[in-house]
Amino acid sequence: MSVIVNRYKCGYCGACVGVCPVGALELAETWIEVDNTCTSCGACAKICPVGALELVVIR
Ligand code: SF4
Ligand code: SF4
Repeated sequence: MSVIVNRYKCGYCGACVGVCPVGALELAETWIEVDNTCTSCGACAKICPVGALELVVIR
């Protein structure tokens, strides 16, 4: 599992960055970056006001 950011929906509010327990999210200029410390806890997906974060299964 990993998290993907829908760049067309994301408003760069930064809410997800603050809620991540492992600091896996970073607001990089005009993009939210997810690094490999993500545990797929889903906290960011729940907090995102526009539903831009999605948990996906990476095969
Ligand atoms: S799923 Fe959890 S660990 Fe992964 S980026 Fe979101 S808040 Fe952080
Ligand atoms: S909470 Fe959602 S809209 Fe806000 S920065 Fe994160 S992905 Fe973008």
